[in-house]
Parts: sequence; structure tokens; C-alpha cells
Amino acid sequence: MADSSIWDEILDTRHVQVLRTYIERWPRRDKAPEKVLIVVVEPDDEARNRCPHCGNKGVPVEFDVRRWRTLDVHGKKCFPECRLPRIDCAEHGKITAKVPWARHDDYFSMPFEDHSAWLAAQMPWTKASAGLRITWEALANIVTRVTADAPALAGRLDGLRMTGIDEKSWGKGAEKFLTVVTDHETGKIAWIAEGRSQESVTAFFDQFGTSRPKLLTHVSADGAEWIHDVVRAKAPQALICLDAFHIVKWAGERLDELRRRLAAELRAAGSDDQAATLGKGMREIRKKPQNLTAGQRTALAGIARDNKQLYKGYLIKEQLREALRARGAHGKALLAGVIFWAVRSRIPEFAKLAKTLRRFLPLIWNTLGHGPSNGRAEALNAQLNALITRARGFRSAGALIAMADFVYGGLCPDSPY
Ligand SMILES: [Zn+2]
Repeated sequence: MADSSIWDEILDTRHVQVLRTYIERWPRRDKAPEKVLIVVVEPDDEARNRCPHCGNKGVPVEFDVRRWRTLDVHGKKCFPECRLPRIDCAEHGKITAKVPWARHDDYFSMPFEDHSAWLAAQMPWTKASAGLRITWEALANIVTRVTADAPALAGRLDGLRMTGIDEKSWGKGAEKFLTVVTDHETGKIAWIAEGRSQESVTAFFDQFGTSRPKLLTHVSADGAEWIHDVVRAKAPQALICLDAFHIVKWAGERLDELRRRLAAELRAAGSDDQAATLGKGMREIRKKPQNLTAGQRTALAGIARDNKQLYKGYLIKEQLREALRARGAHGKALLAGVIFWAVRSRIPEFAKLAKTLRRFLPLIWNTLGHGPSNGRAEALNAQLNALITRARGFRSAGALIAMADFVYGGLCPDSPY
């Protein structure tokens, strides 16, 4: 047929013959009918009548005409159409035959799905689905299928040596949590699943294997000790490190408690103005010292002058940050200083910090000695937060997981075009 070869080229068909093309006009309210392009195709002799599960040839028993949405042609929706057989497979019984251009039981072609998933990775889903003229839910399903099928998914856990296990909230509600395993060497997601429970972390180890010698597990410290229990049970050789970011966060929280207590004491003594200054000043000095502006430095100097306890707390926190930055033997020495200083400070909030630091000392030493630098994990964390913010309206964790995995798990290919 004269036009077959052009359409073969346009559709990049393999094992497919184009029989003919025609235009169908779909009525629309208050508008001229929509023109859509129908491309009638059939699998070639080799691809025809194959079982989707085993690939064996089966005997066709009945036919059904079916269409798949593929990429638009000159702004028109385009549908390959095929007389699709149900076959009788010796092993799998009566089943709809496989087609070379689409996933089994799917209504979109693979090029359409690859392109859609790529678009979804570049922009908000409401925009991507509007541009593709499909529903948000259809796009979510496409991303899930493409992710599950991504060639890079297989073997992704093979080279994993330094991992971070973390839990992440993706919405309001106790059940809206994800368990994320990060590859600290690549800064990508290695594994992601719904929920935060011993079962989800156990599921990771069951899939990953538990006997890798060099596995270095790095766990967020935020009330997630149950994760340590799972790691010790499933991967006893793993060195558990605490996350430096969370260790500094402990100190920040104690400092906030101290500030609130001092402000309440000032208010009780009738010094409302001073109490208010305390709050404002503290908010400003929460940053790293080198990031403080001139005005914030002045606020800090004011605190140093007027409130020795709070200033001491601030210095202890900064010393802890410095210990984690220095790492190694120097970091350990600084950490010992921090604990000593916190105990001696006679500030109850910081005595509590010292207690926590002592309790986790072996794990913090692991962090200082072997822990990964946190830059990549923090970058990934920020990206995930951005995705979660952008994806408000995700009703199911499934779509969010697929998207996170696709974009930040190294599965998103370059655009197919
Ligand atoms: Zn079969």
C-alpha cells in the first residue's frame, strides 16, 4: 500500500504492518467536530497471536477491534486500531494476544506512555495531563506503569553500599508516610515504599539481601530507633550512623525550649518587652553563624550581653555543628567537649541534650568516622519535599511513589524525542 511505508516510519513500528489510515470526526458541543487520525495496523506474522505472559503462539478464538491512544499527529489525536484476537495459550488459557506497540491490557501505546511520563517529570501533573489531553488519573497510572517497567529498576540495588533509611510525611494524617532508602553514593532513591513500619523496612532488606559486607546504613535520628532494631536484626554487619542534620536539630530544639522557658520567666517577672526581643532574636540566629546578616549579628550580641544562658546554649549548639563538620578524631574531641560543656552549663535543657548525645554516642562516632557527607542526601530530601509540595492533591501514595522513584530514582530517561 502506497502510504504504508510513511506511516511505518512515523509510528516507528516494529513487527507491525500499517494497513490503512483514515480520519474520523468526533462531534463536539458548540464546536466543529474533532478530527482524529485512525491508523489501522496489524502485527506481522512473527508478532501475531502471541501470549502476553509466555510469548508462545496461541490459536486465535475470537476477535475484537480495539484502539490505543498514541502520540498526536499535527495536533490531532491518533489511534492505532487493530483487530485483536483472543488466543488460546497452551499454558495460560484464553487470553488477549500481546501487541508490539503497547503494554498488555493497556489503552495507550508505549511511545505515548514514555513521553507522558517524561512530561510528568518536567512539570506539574495538571499541566502535563491537560497538554496530553488525558485525565490526571490516567497520567498517574501511566507513570506507575512506566516506572515499574523501567530497565534501570532491575539491578538498582546491586551496587548499594551506603544507604540512608528515612521516613517521610507526604500529607496530613498518621498514615501518610513513605519509607525512603537513599543510595548515599549516587544521591538517588534506591527503594521507596508506602508506610513507615518495621514491615516496610523489613521488606527492603528482604528484597536487597541481608548479607552485603560493606553495607553502611545511615538512619535518621528522629525518633526512628525502631529502624535501628530492624537493621540490627536484618543486617548485623551494617554500621549504623546517625544523620548529622538530625543531631544538630536536637540541639536546636533544646535551644528553643530554653528560649521559651526564659521568655516565660521574663513575662512572669513583668518584662514583656525583653521576652519579645528574646523570641525575635532567637528566630534570627537559628542560621549558621557564617550566614548571619549584620543585623542578626547585632541581635546575637544583644543576647550575649543580656542573656548569658541563652548565649551559652547557642554556642553549645554551634560547637556541636562544628564537631559534625570536622568529623574524624577532631570531631570526636569536639563532641566530647560539647557533652562536657552541656553537663557543666547547669541548663536543664542542655543537660538533656548531653544525655541524648551520650546515649547515642557509638552511633554518632560512626557518623564522625564513616558517615557519608550529607550534601547529596539533603539535596534529595529537598527535591522530594518540592515534589510533595508540587503534587498536593495526590490522593494515593502509589502515584507519588511512582513519580518520586521515576524522577529521583534514576529511572527517567531523556525524552524519547
Ligand atoms: Zn502463555
